[in-house]
Amino acid sequence: MIRLFTTFLASLPMTMSIAAAAPLSEKQIAPNVRMIRLAENVYAFAADNATADIVDGNSTLILTDDGAVVVDAPGVHLVRTHIAEIRKLTKKPVRYLINTHWHPDHTVGDGAYKKAFPDVEIISDDYTAEIWNRRGPALFEKLIAGEEGEALLARFEKNAGSAVDEEGDPKSAYQAGRDARAATDLKRAFESAAKTGFAGPTRTFSDAMTLTLGGTEIQLKKFTGHSRGDTVVFLPEEKILITGDLVIHPTPYGINSEFRSWPESIDALLAYDARVIVPGHGDMQYSMDYILLQQKLIRALRDQANRAVSERRKLAEFQAEIDLEEFRLKIAGDDPDLNWAWKNYFLDPAPPVVFDMAGGSR
Ligand SMILES: [Zn+2]
Repeated sequence: MIRLFTTFLASLPMTMSIAAAAPLSEKQIAPNVRMIRLAENVYAFAADNATADIVDGNSTLILTDDGAVVVDAPGVHLVRTHIAEIRKLTKKPVRYLINTHWHPDHTVGDGAYKKAFPDVEIISDDYTAEIWNRRGPALFEKLIAGEEGEALLARFEKNAGSAVDEEGDPKSAYQAGRDARAATDLKRAFESAAKTGFAGPTRTFSDAMTLTLGGTEIQLKKFTGHSRGDTVVFLPEEKILITGDLVIHPTPYGINSEFRSWPESIDALLAYDARVIVPGHGDMQYSMDYILLQQKLIRALRDQANRAVSERRKLAEFQAEIDLEEFRLKIAGDDPDLNWAWKNYFLDPAPPVVFDMAGGSR
């Protein structure tokens, strides 16, 4: 049935809307986690916390006759629910775990897969492997299971218990709710990860790699943009594209990103003939509209930074002049969570990085 459907879709003329595709089924498997069946053999685990203080990446499961393949391993408490679902679907092990990039919200659960499936091979591009294998063990030792983590958690808990913010002003009910949730989420993330420990990539590639398992072809290709190693996973038969954080829904993250190449990497994503896109965070995308909006936003910020630098503006002047309001309205509207994420994950952190990349002097 799905084969027929995809063949039918492939025969349609190419438009920017990928298709009127819909998931085969969808169920809530835990608070904030949905399991979405995208094809007979492919499921996405969507973490619905993209605008929270502590976020988790999405994960994708590909079932084959010779074992399973998983893309990305977010928080261990989530990975445990994912593995429980995987075991309901197959008696075969997870053979490969692919990390789309090194950020902990996509890799911190690697150790949980290694524990559950000792022979799993963890695959990433060489940049991601180099960074995560170097930084990951120290992150576990000092932050997740060490004194730095204890201090951070104590700060979060103190903040959650306080009726005033860091400036001493009374907190809004909204902020109080966020702070309480942040402390709970951080505690759970640290505790669950500390129990499993670190694991990192054991097999790498530099530009592209094709895995074939149980007759399923899985194409991996390295880009840059969100980070300096963003692997995209494409299933040509199912026409499913897993983008990692090159696409982040519902608001983009722009923290230490590689803005110079990001829009061009998105062009490359558009060239895949995908019927559904699994973004690094947030909802499945069945049209290119949001992805094009994200690309336009990055280009607009880049253009404004180039102009400011050519006019010899300082960083503070540039930041005061930035005008991305049309994007904020489209992306965040008047939703408090979306506006929080827009400000904290994009509008505050992205401009200084783009300014530096444009050659600006602070
Ligand atoms: Zn992420």
